[in-house]
Amino acid sequence: MSTQSSLMPFAYFRKGIIPSKEASISIASHSLQYGTTCFGGIRGYFREEKIRIFRLQDHFFRLKHAAKILGMQVHLSWEDFQEIISGLIQANDPKSDFYIRPFLFSENQVLTPRFDGLDFDLAIYVTPLNHYFDPNRGLRLMVSSWRKISDTSMSTKAKAGGCYVNSALATSEARRCGYDEALMMDEQGNVVEASVANLFVVYRGEVIMPEVGSSMLEGITRRTIIDFLQEEGIPIRSERIDRSMIYTCDELILTGTAAQVMYGHSVDGRVIGQGDVPGPICQNLRQKFVDVMISKTHPKSYSWVTEFNT
Ligand code: PMP
Repeated sequence: MSTQSSLMPFAYFRKGIIPSKEASISIASHSLQYGTTCFGGIRGYFREEKIRIFRLQDHFFRLKHAAKILGMQVHLSWEDFQEIISGLIQANDPKSDFYIRPFLFSENQVLTPRFDGLDFDLAIYVTPLNHYFDPNRGLRLMVSSWRKISDTSMSTKAKAGGCYVNSALATSEARRCGYDEALMMDEQGNVVEASVANLFVVYRGEVIMPEVGSSMLEGITRRTIIDFLQEEGIPIRSERIDRSMIYTCDELILTGTAAQVMYGHSVDGRVIGQGDVPGPICQNLRQKFVDVMISKTHPKSYSWVTEFNT
């Protein structure tokens, strides 16, 4: 797994594009103390001297929905958001693939943990990102001993900063035990997602995924994968997925903006499919991403890809 360290030179902060180094907040900020943020993660690709962004509008609406769920009062229009992203791309002038991290946060120095009555604002940083996981190696996965937080306790749909303590615990445990990534079960023992990716299993000839309402993030990549599978006529349905199904499935596929389309090599030491070779459905889905983003031969390229000149 790559660890990101460097920011691109310019960030959006306090309603302007400024040097990233100057974008800082007080240690007493509410969002730092209580994790009262919500964030997005958007991929940018540098191809043919242009910048291509994947499903920008869907990312914008997810951020807006997150603010609504959490009760953050933020006035941000799609037009403003596009303009800010465009300004950041012009200022940073990326020459390789990158990742955009927009987030809503509060600098208020208020002791009470709450969302109401605080000022929330948008900030965005940009960081180079090629691969989050090595795409040529299947993931060694473990079922975490930490259970996925339930939407009855915290919103799992809002990408709220505080919720990622759950992911951080699971990821750290997995790495400490020598694995690449953690799969997370809910309190009932259903496997619902990975620490930062959604999950699909190919099981007895069908693709099965946890249902949207199963305390997981509704990934934008997940929605894309569903479209791709439907286009291919591959049967797909939502169902409970237990641990034994994971151990005996033909393919295990993880999807996310950072993770992209990854395949499981093994879970808790049980090898899935051919281990280090991606299964046929994973390969097919990866090719479709190339068709959309790189060769632009897929009909959805027009609606899903926003292109900026550099
Ligand atoms: N689940 C979690 C918990 C995540 O953090 C992410 C990454 N955003 C995903 C799933 C995948 O979502 P997306 O495809 O929108 O990146």
